[in-house]
Amino acid sequence: MTIVRAKVYFGKVCPKHPEFEGERFRASRNCVECNRMSAAAWTAKNADYDRARCRDWFTKNQEYNRQRCRERYVANREHEIVMRRKRRERSRNEEAAQ
Ligand SMILES: [Zn+2]
Repeated sequence: MTIVRAKVYFGKVCPKHPEFEGERFRASRNCVECNRMSAAAWTAKNADYDRARCRDWFTKNQEYNRQRCRERYVANREHEIVMRRKRRERSRNEEAAQ
């Protein structure tokens, strides 16, 4: 999932994360690292729900995803060819291992 760096400001230094020097979200005023950790904990606890939500989004936006794939392929043709070959080999090896 994409991590969007929301607008932040520097406020009171979080006692748990002094290394972030008080970096906080503007809207919620939460510490960015506390926020990241609680989001990760939520995702770990609700992995099935999160996965289903991703799958739903992917299904609903198939045409958009295909278009993005095509654009990425055109823009990075050489790299994509190498990556596809690697992916194919990996899945072939997994099939052989089973
Ligand atoms: Zn914190």
